[in-house]
Amino acid sequence: MIEDLPEIKCLPIPFCDLCGRQRAVTTTGRDRYGYPIKLLRCACGLYRNSHRPKDLMDFYGGHYRQLVSAYHQREINDQTIQGEQLEYAEWLHAFLWPRRYDEILDVGGSTGIVSQYLAQEWGAVTTVVDPCEAELNHVLGERILATAEDFEPGERTWDIALVCQTIEHLLSPVEVLRKLSRCAGALYVDAVDVETFGNKARACKIDHLWGFTDKTMRRTLGETGWQITASQKRNRHLVYLAVPI
Ligand SMILES: [Zn+2]
Repeated sequence: MIEDLPEIKCLPIPFCDLCGRQRAVTTTGRDRYGYPIKLLRCACGLYRNSHRPKDLMDFYGGHYRQLVSAYHQREINDQTIQGEQLEYAEWLHAFLWPRRYDEILDVGGSTGIVSQYLAQEWGAVTTVVDPCEAELNHVLGERILATAEDFEPGERTWDIALVCQTIEHLLSPVEVLRKLSRCAGALYVDAVDVETFGNKARACKIDHLWGFTDKTMRRTLGETGWQITASQKRNRHLVYLAVPI
């Protein structure tokens, strides 16, 4: 819990993104930072927060890294995250090997470190979509300042879409994954595995609007047009590679 929490305007999340149910069971009454947000469990198995930040562009452009830094009691910003993301990129390259892709779409890609590492290994080009301008300014490839929901691919296509440590943050994972199934030839996505938290209160964070299990991730991918071709569990995360059905 953090003292002097910044005030964040919130809106309720009235419906389950996966099945549309309104009714849900309350599992905890405060998030890990101290915000009075309840973690709800839908009958379909998908967890969701009772509330979410009203303006996501504003939240990720301002409060987000500040909250994470206060919680971990060390500075986490657009500079420091690059080292952590590089380690992740090396692992992801090994996970995807021997596959390689020429055009990468990195959704919620932050500084672009992960997709840039893959691009160098593969001789590929990247497009990074992120709502935080300070982080996006580090991107070497194409930059699109937008939330994943507002991002409009138009007629463009990419060989793979990466959704790295991002799916829980999305306003509507279902809407975004469905959109990606029409513009990407493959999908890499990971999710925090809520089942690894004995005390569900520790999984509840204002920025994680949704909480997945292997069952709900598989159902979400299937219902948004994706067929899983590889999967793995890693560091409390569920990871999937998929192709459009
Ligand atoms: Zn549901």
